[in-house]
Amino acid sequence: MPQVTLVNFASGSTGNCTLLATENTRVLIDAGISTKRIRTHLQELEMDVDQLDGVCVTHEHSDHIQALPILNRKHEVPLYGNAGTIQSLAHKKKFEDLKWRVFTNGQDFDIGDFSFHPFSIPHDAYDPVSYVVTCGDIRVGFATDIGLATRLVRHQLKGCHALILETNHDRILLEESERPWSLKQRISGRQGHLSNEEAADLLKEVAGPELQRVYLAHLSSDCNQVALAESCIRLTLKSMNMEHVRVCMTHPNQPAEPWSFSSTHLELSS
Ligand SMILES: [Zn+2]
Ligand SMILES: [Zn+2]
Repeated sequence: MPQVTLVNFASGSTGNCTLLATENTRVLIDAGISTKRIRTHLQELEMDVDQLDGVCVTHEHSDHIQALPILNRKHEVPLYGNAGTIQSLAHKKKFEDLKWRVFTNGQDFDIGDFSFHPFSIPHDAYDPVSYVVTCGDIRVGFATDIGLATRLVRHQLKGCHALILETNHDRILLEESERPWSLKQRISGRQGHLSNEEAADLLKEVAGPELQRVYLAHLSSDCNQVALAESCIRLTLKSMNMEHVRVCMTHPNQPAEPWSFSSTHLELSS
């Protein structure tokens, strides 16, 4: 069974990009930062942009798609998206004529060593999805850009060894912020983003004995604080007697702590 490496290159409203890799397969979940940055971070792992086997896109918001044109046209990296996401980008000059591989929400597809399970999430995009990615018996769940943790979301994210979990905002900081009322409504609404408390509630429901690591993601720069998000999640894990689960931050401008793991469930390095 291959060893799997997970590295979040960037997270937040300025760009999102996560690498999942084995010795044979390298896939990005979203590519919302520059190709130059992606190349740099891959080189740090002794990988190259031309070796990418695909980018799986969650939705068409600009913080998730920036590098798609160059990766696809210049480096011939296959792009994976559902019909709604592809359609929403087709009329934008920068994104027209990209070559896509189309998937249907709810239907699994494989890229090399990985199986992708795309599932619908509520968010203010055309047809947003999130993914659970499996490699052998290893399961990694992505939960960002989610307005509401629906039954489907909660069902899909159960049994993961690692979770990329959105702790977007602190409810009080959002209420007290200078943002216009309409934007506050958008962020906190059913089509927006998960607050720290909502993320903690979701975690409480999906965390099982196999969970080893949680990455806190997509933090708002002015409506959240690392300490607030962290303590909210740590307290939840403590209440579940799961303090052994490692809580890692993601960052807008630098990669998060990498994680490598094998199917034996033993943590190999960090
Ligand atoms: Zn979004
Ligand atoms: Zn986003």
